[in-house]
Amino acid sequence: MNKKPARPCEVCLNSKSAEILHRQSFILPQGHILEKAREYDIVSCNECGFVYADTPLKQKTYDSYYEKMSKYELDYSKADISRYMSQAKLIKSFLPHENLKVIDVGCGNGGLLMALKQLGQKNITALDPSVKCISNIKKAGIKGFTGNLFGNTGAEKYDMVILSHVMEHVKDVSRALDKVLNMLNENGMLYIEVPDASSYADNHVVPYYYFDTEHINHFEETSLINLGMHKGLRVINLGKKLIDASARVKYPAIYVLYKRTAETASWNSYAKARVKAYIKLSAADKKVLGTIDELLKIKKKIVIWGAGNYTMRLLDNSPLANCDIEAFIDKDPKKQGLKINGKPVLSTDIIGKLSPDTVIVICSAVYADEITAELKGMKVKNRIVTL
Ligand SMILES: [Zn+2]
Repeated sequence: MNKKPARPCEVCLNSKSAEILHRQSFILPQGHILEKAREYDIVSCNECGFVYADTPLKQKTYDSYYEKMSKYELDYSKADISRYMSQAKLIKSFLPHENLKVIDVGCGNGGLLMALKQLGQKNITALDPSVKCISNIKKAGIKGFTGNLFGNTGAEKYDMVILSHVMEHVKDVSRALDKVLNMLNENGMLYIEVPDASSYADNHVVPYYYFDTEHINHFEETSLINLGMHKGLRVINLGKKLIDASARVKYPAIYVLYKRTAETASWNSYAKARVKAYIKLSAADKKVLGTIDELLKIKKKIVIWGAGNYTMRLLDNSPLANCDIEAFIDKDPKKQGLKINGKPVLSTDIIGKLSPDTVIVICSAVYADEITAELKGMKVKNRIVTL
């Protein structure tokens, strides 16, 4: 059944129509801040498919709930420590150097930051609404301040913003991402990790376990990719994991690493935009043409090592075919014996028999360095040119 949702889809901003997937309700403790959302629908956006809680509450109500109810001030268990360390190792692998500025927004007790610090990351900052959490983190020698995505986020810009198990709790997702963009340097990265809704069914616990009062967004790969596209955040890494929540429960999670770009897109324009960017880059790369001009000027016989796509394309799209080509060389026995533009493709045996005046032209997109090393090993005296 469809409805006009009380809450718009936070991925594509469609507010017209969503399909009701499930209605759930709880008896909450008296005076509970989320009382008005004790009953809500799990819906799916009829435009982009994003699944979310159609909660009637405002972001402000959730903000005050998390401020008062922070359960992240407790000490961590052993499982938590090893979980933070493996997450920190993953994030560290995305950070090209140790001085990049990193902020963990909604960092809770700071376990992830402490692990990043242990791994040698130097410029890290904690941000959390809990005064107690921030005070503990500062005692551990890490910078930090209190605030949240919709309040104080400071004036600094960062190379990486981390939102680990935060976005499933946020009502105004789109507005939150706009705030995050304000915190990011021009080419900054955003790491988001959330529960993976596409894997709930593979990790059943008790009925409706994954639909709770706090998790109001059910992201998976499609919605995370779409969400990024709308905001000019391009996915550069994405993966899934299972988190040991307890001895019997494994919690499915998904992480995505975005890079900030100037372009926004939508699911049906993204591939075209990215491939067009590649075509533009290829068209602008004219480095090889200068080398081919030099070859033409010296008017020597050449043999071309490499009879693959790179060579075949250059033969039809550059003056390479105007050079005095004696033969092609290729290690692939299936190519040996073929003729290109009337010249034979031969094995490397020909190299020892070349006249000393012949220039060996390496034309291989991938193996140019290996071929150069091999020619050196053969103590070849001929001039070598790499395209
Ligand atoms: Zn949508």
